Amino acid sequence: MTIDVMIRAVQAALGVTVDGKAGPQTWEAIYRRLLKKAPPASEQVDTRSEKAIATLHAEVQPYARALVQRAADHGITIKVISGTRTYEEQNELYAKGRTAPGSIVTNARGGFSNHNFGIAFDIGVFEGSSYRDESPKYKAVGAIGQELGLDWGGNWKSIQDEPHFQLRPDWADGLTEKELLAGLRQRVADGQDVFKA
Ligand SMILES: [Zn+2]
Repeated sequence: MTIDVMIRAVQAALGVTVDGKAGPQTWEAIYRRLLKKAPPASEQVDTRSEKAIATLHAEVQPYARALVQRAADHGITIKVISGTRTYEEQNELYAKGRTAPGSIVTNARGGFSNHNFGIAFDIGVFEGSSYRDESPKYKAVGAIGQELGLDWGGNWKSIQDEPHFQLRPDWADGLTEKELLAGLRQRVADGQDVFKA
């Protein structure tokens, strides 16, 4: 096993971007895993959400938890149902309806979705234990997320994506989504943290 293959295997196991280069994102994930640095049980939300939240960048995790908790304060039950996807996982999704069976689910290849960088997550609204893919509550949660400082997919002009939230790094203030993604890809390629200015 070459070092490159080993790093890729470790990155895949940690759920960080698989690029074979151990940058800050990978080291931070290793550090967190070794120290089992998770928030105390009293600050954690439901198990399903925590599983998705664990795949997010450390800077983003508290925002995701706060969104679940604030929605609950408003009487709305949400869960974080999707977090980070590796470039490889994104490419597999992209293949659906193109080179693989099924219908098209995304227009983003690996490296072209905010979900590939640990900054984005999707929520689901629940009524009791049942998931609702459509509900006016998504708009209410969108407002709560924006109060917290998150970008909300419901504001997107092209394809509105009400379950989608992301934390925009400071360096990306005022950038378009396209420019943001280019900056994120560059940081990953350079082995830098995605929040680094
Ligand atoms: Zn999303």
